[in-house]
Amino acid sequence: VVQGNSLVKCLIWDLDNTLWKGTLAEGDDVRLADEIRQVVVEMDRRGVLQSVVSRNDHDRAWAVLEGMGVADYLVAPRIGWGRKSDAVRAIVDELGFAEDAFAFIDDQPFERAEVAHHLSRVRCYPAEQAAVLTELPEFSPPVSTVDAGRRRVMYQARARREADRAAYQGPDEEFLASLGMELDIVRAGDDDLARVEELTLRTSQMNATGVHYPQDALRDLSTDPAHDVLVVSLTDKFGSHGAVGVVLLERLPGAWRVKLLATSCRVVAYGVGTVILRWLVDGALRAGVHLIADFRATERNRMMDVAYRFAGFRDGECACTPPPDPGGVRQLHLVPTPQPPVTTMRIAAPDLAAAPR
Ligand SMILES: [Zn+2]
Repeated sequence: VVQGNSLVKCLIWDLDNTLWKGTLAEGDDVRLADEIRQVVVEMDRRGVLQSVVSRNDHDRAWAVLEGMGVADYLVAPRIGWGRKSDAVRAIVDELGFAEDAFAFIDDQPFERAEVAHHLSRVRCYPAEQAAVLTELPEFSPPVSTVDAGRRRVMYQARARREADRAAYQGPDEEFLASLGMELDIVRAGDDDLARVEELTLRTSQMNATGVHYPQDALRDLSTDPAHDVLVVSLTDKFGSHGAVGVVLLERLPGAWRVKLLATSCRVVAYGVGTVILRWLVDGALRAGVHLIADFRATERNRMMDVAYRFAGFRDGECACTPPPDPGGVRQLHLVPTPQPPVTTMRIAAPDLAAAPR
């Protein structure tokens, strides 16, 4: 079992004498070394987001980044004259990953210490390491998929979406409905398994068991008539979010058992977890079975516990529930009842209540 917690999801660059050589505010003709440009491009290809924290005049520094052709690789930049720890904190809050999923690289020991003092779990690197970051395991996700290469583009779409949201005055439900969201749930085929595996690695906050299923295990389950491996993707008027969720369902006599439910933290605000759970409850109701959900508390996944409880899952004994697994997995239980209609998105999904494949 591999946990995804050790991977860096966002690398935050200092500019002067880190990303580029020279100090812009002192009038240097700053330049970007080829080896650093290659790191930027490779991190992007791997799906590691990149941002900037720098003491500089914002407009001037950004124009230089654009001239170097690297501005498009950066999300949530913070360029200004305040404390770097405040700037890093703002990026952590904006992207919504756990603190230890961020890395900060800076040539000044003082700046690294200042960030480390206030954000002890952010990983700090000296500028001398910039050219070799891609060789470090924490920057080397084991799976690299089409979605990984597009992650940054999806974050940039999100920033536009959030600017739209900030401008919107109506109630939240209405705003969500105005996005034209479509949730697509499909049985995972061979092509989807890499994305499913990657999601189980990258979704530690929203993973109900913290278990990582390797591709081979997923392939076996996807062809097993007693299991459904489902991959969930989301599209809205701004574009595709890519694959945002995975459900692993086992069909038992009298019950469906959700062995894994993981959704991307990128889509928490859109209520995707709740919508998936309502869809499952509705299917179970029509199939005349109870629902069981495996849950194992990790340091990070309290939000999933909340989502299950909000949907009505409870601890408790029922004849449908198999004996507990060793390893601390709890089984939550629900007797399905009619669900309120989902008004925020359209759902396209297979009918699980129909006869198994
Ligand atoms: Zn039951």
